Amino acid sequence: MILVIKKDRDKKQVDNLIRWIRSLGLDIYRSEGENSEIIGIVGDTSKVDIELISTLDIVESVTRVQEPYKNANRKFHPQDTVIDVAGHKFGGNNFQIIAGPCSVESEKQIIEVAKAVQKAGATVLRGGAFKPRTSPYSFQGMGLEGLKLLRKAKEETGMPIVTEIMSEYHIDDFYGVDIIQVGARNMQNFDLLKHLGKLKTPILLKRGIAATMEEWLMSAEYIMSEGNPNVILCERGIRTYETYTRNTLDISAVPVLKERTHLPVIVDPSHASGISRLVKPLSLAAAAAGADGLIIEVHNDPPHALCDGAQSLRPEQFADAVQSIDKILQAVGKSRDK
Ligand code: PEP
Ligand code: MN
Repeated sequence: MILVIKKDRDKKQVDNLIRWIRSLGLDIYRSEGENSEIIGIVGDTSKVDIELISTLDIVESVTRVQEPYKNANRKFHPQDTVIDVAGHKFGGNNFQIIAGPCSVESEKQIIEVAKAVQKAGATVLRGGAFKPRTSPYSFQGMGLEGLKLLRKAKEETGMPIVTEIMSEYHIDDFYGVDIIQVGARNMQNFDLLKHLGKLKTPILLKRGIAATMEEWLMSAEYIMSEGNPNVILCERGIRTYETYTRNTLDISAVPVLKERTHLPVIVDPSHASGISRLVKPLSLAAAAAGADGLIIEVHNDPPHALCDGAQSLRPEQFADAVQSIDKILQAVGKSRDK
């Protein structure tokens, strides 16, 4: 339920109203705009008498929200949420490029790639330490050692880091990680999401391989309803009948989500296509569709990568893609952090 509060409201009356709503066991979400204040009510709102509330002096209008996601709903929070990651902003008119290898493989590899992508325009470094592989016989990532190397790369370059968590048991090991990634396979690992909701660290929530946008937003809701408002959504392709690409990039998810939610939305063209030569055109499409950023796999030696070499760009290909992305950003009125 959403209450729009009048511009010349009496603050005391607003506080009284909020206290009363909370006494019904409901949660409140407040968003103050220039001309009005919006109060979102989350929980079983059947106990709230709409007629009664709409007669209050301070209330401009009352509407029930049909969508099952509330905290993530743009109706609750009309302005874009802007998430600050070590000074780099996700959301609003900002555009960030996250880049790095699929997996951390060695100190030399992660530091070399970090420096190269930073030089080309990336503001956040990616690198998997815990890898969700389809086969138990494939490289599973360097684990804790990988996290250590990522922190070292952060120290050397000053870039914030993003890496995937697979289990809540590792939360304490993720100190120094600036964005915690929840991979496609864990999008509906609700226990993990609830634990991440207790943190304030930004969460990069990837879309499940067969998840509808509503299911995905409900996963964001799990994190937000526990108290962590810092969720960045990442479209990474969905599984369809198509076999020429690894997944199918659902580009329409970008403008649809921008309508439905105030959360930043970024695109992963690497996992969406699985093919390095498609990464640049899909990146351009994502920027044109209004994405708030990209996450791109870059490796210094793709043929020998331990994971996802076929979809990884070489640093020079990445630099070339960034140049072209800038032209699109100019057209859509977004600015990339440099
Ligand atoms: C990844 O980013 O390395 C990854 C495994 O992505 P996804 O969860 O989208 O498959
Ligand atoms: Mn990968």
